[in-house]
Amino acid sequence: MIRKLASVQRVLEVVPIVGADAIEAVRINGWQCVVKKGAFAVGDRGVFFEIDAVPPDLPAYRFLWTPKAAAPAEGTRPASYRIRTMTLRKCLSQGLFLTLAEAGVEGAVSDGDDLTERLGVGKYEPPMPHKAGELRGPFPSRVPKTDEMRVQSVPAVLDELRGHPYVITLKCDGTSATYLIDPYDDTLHACGRNWSMAEGDNVYWGVAKRDGLEAKLRALGGRYAIQGELCGPSIQKNLLGLKTVQLFVFSAFDLTTGRFLDHAATHALARELGLASVPTVEEGDRFAHDQASLLALAEGLYEGTKNQREGIVIRARDDMFSATLNGRMSFKAISNKYLLDERD
Ligand code: ATP
Ligand code: MN
Repeated sequence: MIRKLASVQRVLEVVPIVGADAIEAVRINGWQCVVKKGAFAVGDRGVFFEIDAVPPDLPAYRFLWTPKAAAPAEGTRPASYRIRTMTLRKCLSQGLFLTLAEAGVEGAVSDGDDLTERLGVGKYEPPMPHKAGELRGPFPSRVPKTDEMRVQSVPAVLDELRGHPYVITLKCDGTSATYLIDPYDDTLHACGRNWSMAEGDNVYWGVAKRDGLEAKLRALGGRYAIQGELCGPSIQKNLLGLKTVQLFVFSAFDLTTGRFLDHAATHALARELGLASVPTVEEGDRFAHDQASLLALAEGLYEGTKNQREGIVIRARDDMFSATLNGRMSFKAISNKYLLDERD
């Protein structure tokens, strides 16, 4: 499922903010977003911009411009327009909610419509640890890219998973890596989020060579693609505080069946390959969490550091299809403390 960075949504709840007379909060799906007092009532429709949306440089969004940023060039999406997690009068605010008119939406729209492209909204992406010229080619088409939806955007997953066996793992803050012997060309591919990387002096290949990944994957007949988070010095802010780069496996994909392995099999495969897995935070036979308890569980420090952890990833323990996600039952809860701490 692709994130809808700007979509048509309805106000589910209006929440007063103690001690504030000019603002209040509205609830959109599982998100809480501060707006001008009286601007919206329950049931009102508007355009909701999720955090990380970067609106275009149009008059409606110029209030997002920060004086310390350079004046935006015509037709661009200034970085300072990125919608961020913030607190206003100690009230958490995530997202931007505008009326359809304010967002310049004309014509008929329906609830849930994705307006991201129509409104020219971009997405903030953290820098990737590679330089120009290091891309080998597109991401191998046989393997799904790594991605997780946020619980606040897809609250229906909580009902779907309720009562089912589940596993919650720690979200390791690094960069996504996928390794496989691509049957198409019978060579090792070391991939980032969106690209296969060229063999050379980059962290993806560095780990592949150090850990002998090609031989290990070939020993299994090239049947599996492994996906994990590369963490360590020089990757993002190394919030795990590692001394050397390490791969933490979170998925294994069977290229012969076109399916992901379940949690236990993924773990076992990683162990067989001599690789670490993402740490398990909680595991159980009957999922009973709600959004608030997941967000609470997401908070905490990476062990042995003073760094807020990024969050958690929640999955069905066994293979389970989510109609909401139109794919595997897997989603994330990002720590709001981490989001409020974020600086770049
Ligand atoms: P968004 O979709 O919210 O805009 P994004 O696409 O950049 O953000 P992330 O916030 O990085 O995605 O969350 C998904 C990524 O989390 C996965 O692609 C994977 O690389 C990484 N990740 C780290 N730890 C885990 C884990 N324990 N389980 C699954 N994925 C993990
Ligand atoms: Mn994503």
